[in-house]
Amino acid sequence: MLPTIVLVGRPNVGKSTLFNRMTRTRDALVADLPGLTRDRHYGRGLGASRPYLVVDTGGFEPTAESGILKEMARQTLLAIDEADVIIFLVDGRDGMTPQDGVIAERLRKSQRPVLLAVNKTEGMQRAIVSAEFHELALGDPLSISSAHGEGVRDLVELALESA
Ligand code: GDP
Ligand code: MG
Repeated sequence: MLPTIVLVGRPNVGKSTLFNRMTRTRDALVADLPGLTRDRHYGRGLGASRPYLVVDTGGFEPTAESGILKEMARQTLLAIDEADVIIFLVDGRDGMTPQDGVIAERLRKSQRPVLLAVNKTEGMQRAIVSAEFHELALGDPLSISSAHGEGVRDLVELALESA
């Protein structure tokens, strides 16, 4: 069984961008399928030490009227259930939002290891950008840029160590 890394976070934080980067290896089984992130949410990646499965969830997408927990898609909850480790992605340009707090609370209850990754930090003062996310009580925030690939390999290795 491959270790399963599940990507969680509110819309537009960069989950699919990270997913694409994590599966962009010669060994990625599904990376060449068209419409990958729309139609398929399971991919395979290769870390320095071993291969892994990565799951891109789209489920934390609340509508205006309903709370985030209500709208959490069943597939996202199942994905969290199957996770060996969760990468919780937040947006360093938006800063912390109330939704991040709600998701963090749910993840703290999940009994799974969680890595908190602050995305979109290219060209920014990383320590300053990530500092406010300590409040989520999920450990030291890791600064990354999914779009530029910065910090992604280290994040994956840490995730595999926690899995
Ligand atoms: P998702 O809804 O969480 O899957 O987010 P997407 O992967 O679709 O990305 C949402 C938007 O953020 C897109 O416009 C991406 O190009 C942008 N984005 C993703 N990663 C980064 C990053 O590292 N830096 C910047 N500046 N933009 C990013
Ligand atoms: Mg997406």
